[in-house]
Parts: sequence; structure tokens; C-alpha cells
Amino acid sequence: MAKVDIKYTKLFINNEFVDAVSKKTFPTINPQDESIITQVAEGDKADVDLAVDAAVKAFHRYSEWRTMDASQRGRLLNKIADLMERDAKYLSELETLDNGKPVAQAFGEVIWASHVVRYYAGKADKILGNTIPADGEVISMTMKEPVGVCGQILPWNYPIPMFVWKIAPALAAGCVVIVKPAEQTPLTALAMAALVKEAGVPAGVVSVITGYGPTAGAALTNHPRVDKMAFTGSTEVGRIIMKGASAVNLKRVTLELGGKSPLVIFNDADVEKAAEIAHRAAFANAGQCCVAGTRTYVQSGIYDKFVAKAAEIAKKRTVGNPYESVQQGPQIDTEMFTKVMGYIEVGKKEARCVAGGGRHGNVGFFVQPTVFADVTDNMKIAREEIFGPVQSILKFETFEEVVDRANDSNYGLGAGVVTNDVTTALAFVKYARAGTVWVNTYEHVAVQTPFGGFRESGIGRELGEDGIQQYLENKTVTISLPKKAM
Ligand code: NAD
Repeated sequence: MAKVDIKYTKLFINNEFVDAVSKKTFPTINPQDESIITQVAEGDKADVDLAVDAAVKAFHRYSEWRTMDASQRGRLLNKIADLMERDAKYLSELETLDNGKPVAQAFGEVIWASHVVRYYAGKADKILGNTIPADGEVISMTMKEPVGVCGQILPWNYPIPMFVWKIAPALAAGCVVIVKPAEQTPLTALAMAALVKEAGVPAGVVSVITGYGPTAGAALTNHPRVDKMAFTGSTEVGRIIMKGASAVNLKRVTLELGGKSPLVIFNDADVEKAAEIAHRAAFANAGQCCVAGTRTYVQSGIYDKFVAKAAEIAKKRTVGNPYESVQQGPQIDTEMFTKVMGYIEVGKKEARCVAGGGRHGNVGFFVQPTVFADVTDNMKIAREEIFGPVQSILKFETFEEVVDRANDSNYGLGAGVVTNDVTTALAFVKYARAGTVWVNTYEHVAVQTPFGGFRESGIGRELGEDGIQQYLENKTVTISLPKKAM
């Protein structure tokens, strides 16, 4: 096991690492061997209050942050990206320790996350309003302005990418943020906070409050001086956040929630390639991916061949020590491990298990890559988000039938289609009710393209131009003229 130096375990408020007011701490667990890695400061309402005070001060109209050129905000973001590249090896080893994902994957995520920061660095001084030919003897225009103090609550599945998906567009827009990382993965958020400080971001612009959702997370959601909440996690908590935000001060809310995304494979597809795409769609990040393509619909002509291939690939998937060259590490924690194993037991009763179906080893939260065939639409494993390495294969006959079945979900995050027929592909793209539709690929997420969900998969979009707009207010300015002039 790698020895990783843990430098930061305290809250980050006003550019300082500090103990929680209560002095309480909580353990963060290594999912590989179930041991306690370290104790981390447990923030609560009193700490959120301090972070909000610092954020409000940093957002004051004459503050260093508010009087800084937009291009300088861009330079600070580029500096953060430089530091992430410098520390990529350390950050990825720390991520693997806390999250359990394979270290090569974690390294790739750090580099990818640095690209997100650079994308928004470039956007900082390109935030444009409009001039508008309004009726009357006036000139009208719009000014885009930062929303203000933003609370940002993160999940544990992609801790570093999620940290920058949240802070980079917010800082580019000129907002100030308070980040609450998931309690399962607090360590890399604190390491990122140190880089934010080293880059020269003024005090109070970024704070990180480690702690639990119903305490620290709720304090942010319910704070009257927080102007916006951005959240990624379960649909259940998304509802709580929306309710809290609306009850207190009608905060702006963006939500990136769960999914049960369909991937539809037609008879004309190359079975080997389709099975590889479907495998990655279901098993990436040990299945702990909001957009995972876990409902694999396969047309009857290639169904048997596909099932055999899918089982073969899953059985070859390497699971184990995430510091070694494996494809899959452990699930995040004992709760998720138990939940995933529960679904697998249900699946074994409901459907035909053709790969996996059990725990991997007897220490750590490892689960065998599991494939169920002959799944039907009303089975529990076809309807509920499992968030683990479990693929459900369903058979279909016709295009019309599969579109209705694919859309028969409360979620709408992702969808995919594998076919060589351009008409079939485009028709599916048009009818699928999902925020992203992939054709002959899956989970290709680029920083330039918006990401988010239809229906109960979320509200708003992250990444791309849409991502920064969520951190901007639109102010209309109308100026009287003595005489109308065209
Ligand atoms: P969760 O939604 O409970 O936690 C996500 C974040 O919300 C964490 O930072 C948590 O501390 C915080 N939180 C929890 N309760 C809160 C509250 N009352 N107020 C404010 N913040 C609160 O997710 P989880 O328990 O870690 O995982 C459970 C399920 O969530 C998974 O099975 C999966 O379905 C889903 N999930 C989705 C994503 C995603 O990327 N969309 C990521 C992680 C988990």
C-alpha cells in the first residue's frame, strides 16, 4: 500500500486551516482495507457562519476580489491549474487512499480537472451582456454580474473533478464559494484548498467546510446570506436542498442528481464493439457514476451473442488494490457496499446472473463486476439506481418499443445508442429524454459541452458556456434619452 503524506485535515476558512469551533473530528475510512486513514475537522453551523462572514466580506464591493480585473481572475485560475499539474501525482495518490479508485484513473481525473479550470480561466474576461433595441426613448443593455455567495455540496465519486466543476465557473464569474465535500472524501478538497491559497486567491473567496450533510450541508442550505446552492449527489438530498433553499431566501439552485440511464444497441451494431461500449458505460468508476449506462437494451437478433460477450468482458475485469494496475477498486464505503450487495441479491432472484454476483475478497468494499441478463422493465434492478458495478441487459424487438421503454424512468441524465444507421441514431437522439445522448460511444464528457439532467436527474447545467451562466445574474440597465436614436 502506498504511503501518502496527509498534510491537511482542518477546515479552510479565510485562507487559514482551522479546527472546528466544536473541536469535533470525524474519521475518514480507507475503502480498500476499512481502516481509519485519519481524523478530519467536523464542521457545523458555527463554522459555516464563519465561512459565510468571510465570504460576504470577500464579496464586498470594494474588496480585493470585487475590484480585480476579470483577466486577473483568469490568471489566478490558470495558476491553480498549473499547481494541479505540478501536484498531480500527489493528488491522485491521496484520492486513491480516500476514495479507492485506481491511481492511474485518479491521475487522469486530476489532469482532466485542470483542463476544466483552464477552460473557465479563459472565460473570466469574456462574460458579455447585450445591447437591446428596447421600445421607447431609451438605450437598454444587460450586465452580467456574479450571483454572490455560493454554497457548493460535493459527492464522493469524483472528488477532484467535482470540486473544480463547482469552483472554476463560480470564480470565473466573480462569485465567492463555500465548498462542503462529501464526508467520505474530504482529503483532496482540503489539498485543493491549499493550492487555491498558493495561487493567490484572496482570503474568503474559497472556503472548505468538511463535515456531514444534515449538519454542515444543511447549515449552508439554510443560511440566509448564501445566494446560491450548487449540489451533486442523490435525488433524495437534491429535494431537501431545493426545499431548504426555497424556504429560507429563494436561493438559486442547481442540482446534478442520479440516473438510470439506458444504452440501446441495435441489430446492425458490431457486437464486440457494442459490448465494450456497454461495459464501460456500466462499470466505469466501479459503477459509481451518475450517468452510468446501467440499462443495456439489446435487440433480439444479437441478444444471445451480446449477453455472452458482455459476461466474458465483465469476468475479465480486473478488481483489486487500486495502487496496482487494475480496472476497478473498492466501492466507497460500507453503506454503499451493503446497498450494492443487496441489489445483487435481489437481482439473482429476479433475473439471470451471467457474471459476478458476489463480494470480491473478504477485506475492503470490493464487489465483483456483475451482469444480469433477461432483465425486464419492472424489476427493481431495472428501475433503481444501484451505483455499483452491476449491468442489467434487457431484450427488445422494435425501435418504437425501445424508445418508450428507455424513456420510462423518472430520471433523464444520459442515454446512448449503438447503431450504424444514421436515421435510427438521429431518431433516437431526438426522442430520448435525457440531458446527454451519446451515439456509438458513452460517457464522453468534454469541458466544452453542457452536462446535466432532464426530469429528476437535475436542474441547470454544468460545464461549457451554460456552466458559467449559472453563476451570473442578468441585470437590465435602461437609460433615458432626450430623443430616440436608431
Ligand atoms: P448524498 O446525496 O447523501 O450525499 C452527497 C452530498 O450531500 C454529501 O456531501 C453529503 O454530505 C451531502 N448531504 C447529505 N445530506 C444532506 C442534507 N440533508 N443537506 C445538505 N447536504 C447533504 O449521496 P450519498 O449518500 O453519498 O450516496 C447515496 C446515493 O446518492 C448513491 O446511491 C447515488 O445514487 C447517489 N449519488 C449520486 C451522485 C452523482 O454524481 N449524481 C454522486 C454520489 C451519490
